[in-house]
Amino acid sequence: MNESVSTSIMAPSGSRRLSLSWETSLRTGNPDISYAGDFELRSKSRVTLAEHISNYGRIPTGLSLNMIIETLRVANLTGRGGARFPMYRKIDAVANARTKKAIYIVANGSESEPLSRKDSSLLRANPHLVLDGMSIIAEVLGAKAGYIYVKDKEAHVAINAALRERRDRGINEVRVSVVEAPPGYVSGQETSVVRRIERGPALPRFSTDRLATSGIKGAPTLLSNVETFANAALILRFGGDWYRSGGVGYDSGTRLLTISGSVARPGVYEVNPGVSVAALLREAGASSVRALLVGGYFGGWINVRDESDLNFSFDDHTLADRKLNIGAGIIGVLSKDTCPVVEAAGIVEYLSRQSAGQCGPCVFGLPEISTAFARIALSSNVEKGIAELRSVIPLVEHRGGCQHPDGVIGLVRSTVGAFGDEIKLHKSGNCSVVGVNHRSVLLPTPKMNSGMSSIGGK
Ligand code: SF4
Repeated sequence: MNESVSTSIMAPSGSRRLSLSWETSLRTGNPDISYAGDFELRSKSRVTLAEHISNYGRIPTGLSLNMIIETLRVANLTGRGGARFPMYRKIDAVANARTKKAIYIVANGSESEPLSRKDSSLLRANPHLVLDGMSIIAEVLGAKAGYIYVKDKEAHVAINAALRERRDRGINEVRVSVVEAPPGYVSGQETSVVRRIERGPALPRFSTDRLATSGIKGAPTLLSNVETFANAALILRFGGDWYRSGGVGYDSGTRLLTISGSVARPGVYEVNPGVSVAALLREAGASSVRALLVGGYFGGWINVRDESDLNFSFDDHTLADRKLNIGAGIIGVLSKDTCPVVEAAGIVEYLSRQSAGQCGPCVFGLPEISTAFARIALSSNVEKGIAELRSVIPLVEHRGGCQHPDGVIGLVRSTVGAFGDEIKLHKSGNCSVVGVNHRSVLLPTPKMNSGMSSIGGK
């Protein structure tokens, strides 16, 4: 790199650190919450390289591997793709891989989770932050090549425009290529990403090797979410202590969240994780909330009986106490005119069709789980559905080549655990939502045009 550190830039404060677009990022009434706009952000709102440097300063240079690892450790930066693994430990593992093979670096922005838009919004609006993070870390690792794995076409355009700007400016850094992620829920899994970059199918690979020692072409590979790299770019400019000042101690920095469902202002929000869920939902324009799906389709439910059920923050520790995980930063909101069990059944049916077709328990077991769960959702034969779930789940759980079946089972368990009262109603052939339309589910299940109509008893 030939850029030098700027010292005249003020570190960003509040909840506008990643500032998805300096033009469109909107302040809300709460300093801990910024609304980055709805899902229609286009690449024309992309921050140019000149604007980016004006906003954040030039790319830091001269950082050693030890400085980077220590700064990210102090910052407590964890992965923003869902696993929450400490970034400094990933970098350390790749740096210490005992091999002479070239090192690769990958930013995953594929968002295979249908409810997520944060990664594509970040890449559309501010790809330079992601590229900065990759560039700084790639340099100290001596990486041979970098890849950004992305599904969203607008994001693809924005990244290529940013790469052109950097080349034109003469920034000397690792060569980054954009790899298109195909549709499919499992296409964003780490080993799927590696196979796709190797020009194979975007399907999970059966391997116990860690990517840090054996990733792309068997070489050490640092793979992390695009938001993680963007945060690293800021931390390595402004310091670990600055980053921690934006969170709640153990859960540092800000976080991008995608909020969708029954809200007046769906979209991507940048928030302090200590903010209360009630405050966040107010900003998103939610009313008459019946349930929240936290963490996406492999996440868990909150049954909202009254306002007090929303009176908690969604930092990692608070959510863990409730056996929840924010995952890739996803909150789905259901209002009282929606049956959460029906919604869950729609999601389970979608996920059952996302099997990569490589493992028997997944291929044959997930459709059976979906059919059994549909009986419960449609109040058709709830007792039979519960009995079928009890017999099928042990034959599927922990028997897949990847986490996909266990993720589906986790959602089923969360639904049954959170909505026992609703399921009791279904047992008597009723539903709490009068006149609920079982054929139209609110939360998206791609390529499922007929809604619940594809679900039914045997
Ligand atoms: S468990 Fe399912 S999704 Fe995972 S590798 Fe096997 S068939 Fe594919």
